Amino acid sequence: MGYIEPAPIKDKENPLDSMMSRFDEATRLLGITEEMYNILKIPAKQVVVGLPVTLDNGKIKVFEGYRVIHSNILGPAKGGIRFAPDVNIDEVKALAAWMTWKCAVVDIPYGGAKGGVACNPREMSEGELERLMRAYTNAMLSVFGPDRDIPAPDMGTGQREMAWLMDEYSKAHGMTIHAVVTGKPVVLGGSLGRLEATGRGVMVCALAGMERLKINPYKSTCAVQGFGNVGSFAAKLLHERGVKIIAISDISGGYHNDKGIDIDEAMQYIAKNSGTLEGYKGAEKISNEELLTLKADVLVPAAKEDVIDEEIAHKMQCKLIVEGANGPTSAKADPIINEKGILAVPDILANAGGVTVSYFEWVQNRLGYKWTQERVNRRSDRIMKEAFDKVYETMKQYNVSMRIAAYIVAIDKVAKTYQYRGGY
Ligand code: GLU
Repeated sequence: MGYIEPAPIKDKENPLDSMMSRFDEATRLLGITEEMYNILKIPAKQVVVGLPVTLDNGKIKVFEGYRVIHSNILGPAKGGIRFAPDVNIDEVKALAAWMTWKCAVVDIPYGGAKGGVACNPREMSEGELERLMRAYTNAMLSVFGPDRDIPAPDMGTGQREMAWLMDEYSKAHGMTIHAVVTGKPVVLGGSLGRLEATGRGVMVCALAGMERLKINPYKSTCAVQGFGNVGSFAAKLLHERGVKIIAISDISGGYHNDKGIDIDEAMQYIAKNSGTLEGYKGAEKISNEELLTLKADVLVPAAKEDVIDEEIAHKMQCKLIVEGANGPTSAKADPIINEKGILAVPDILANAGGVTVSYFEWVQNRLGYKWTQERVNRRSDRIMKEAFDKVYETMKQYNVSMRIAAYIVAIDKVAKTYQYRGGY
C-alpha cells in the first residue's frame, strides 16, 4: 500500500516529519483505509495573515500570523498560540495535529488546532505585544469562537495575552464571551489549577510510569529540561512527592546538584531574576546535552521540539522519559530509545493535563460557575491516570512503544467518530 509507506525522514527532521512518521506507523498498524488516512492527515483549515503593528518607535512592522485547524471531527478545535521568532506554517501544522491526537487520547470533546505569530516576545514591550495580540485576534474573528475554535497559551504567551484576546473578541461581538479562550487569569474566568495543569499531568504520568517500572519515587532522581510553566511545576510537584530533582535548565543553561535542587527556591529565584536562572547558585552549571544524558531515573524534557536526536538518544542513561514539551524527541531517536528499554511517555499523553484543564475552564465558563481547585485537580488526575493506563494496555496489546500506542488510541477514536458523522 504505497500511500501508507512511512514518510521519508530527512536528515534534519522538522516536527511535521516527526509527527507524520509516527502517524504513518500507527495508521498502518490500525489498517486505516486510504480515504480515512487522507481525512486524518490533511488539515481542515489553514489561515495565514499579515499583521501590521505600530511599534513603540512609531514605525509599522508587519508580523506573519498563523492558525491551523487540523481537525474538528471530535468537536470545536482547541489549541494554543505560540509567539516565537522561528514559528512557521509547518511547525504550526504539526502542533495542530498533535492537539487532535492529544484531545483524543484524554477523551475530551475537541478537535485540534494551533496558532502562532513569528515574533520575539522577549524583545517586545508590553504595549507592542498587546497591539500584536489584538491585531491577531481581529484577523481571526471568523476563525475563533466558543463552538468553533478555542485558543489557549503556548510558548511565549500566557494569561496576559489570553485576557487581551478575550477582551478584543468580546468587544467585536458587543458582549463578554469568556469561553472563546482558555488559560485566562482566574479573575477573568480562568480556571483554578490551569496554570500548573500541564506540569501536574506530567507528574501524574511520571508517577504512573515509575509504578510500572517499580521505581520508588522516594528513592528516585529526575532531571527536568526547561523551567517554564511546564517544567517548573512538574519539578515542584514531583519534588513534593519525594522525587529528588537533580537538574533543571532554561535558556541560560543547565544546573546540576546530585544532592537535589530546592525547587521552591529556584522558582523564587527566577521570579526575582527577570525570568531566568542565570547566576543561580544552588547547583553547578552543565550543558543542555549533559542534562539530557545525566544518570537520573526520570527525564522530563519540557522545553521545545527535537531536543532528543539520535546522538543524544545513544548517550541517554534514564529509565523513564516523560515528555512535557510537544515533540521533544525526533522520530529517528525513537528506535534507539526503545532498544535501550527506556519507557517514553509521549507528549500527546504526558502534556495533555493542560488541555484537560482548559476543557474544564471552558465547561465552567459555559456553566457560569466556578469549581474548586480540589475538584479540578481530582478530575484532571483521574483523566490523566485513565489515559495513561489505556495507552499502556494498548502498548502491550500491539507490542509497540507507548508513543505509537498513544497514536493508535487517538487515531482509532477520531476515525471511528468520523465514520459515525460521515462525510459529504
Ligand atoms: N498549548 C497547550 C498544549 O500544547 C495547551 C493547549 C490548550 O489548553 O488548548 O497542549
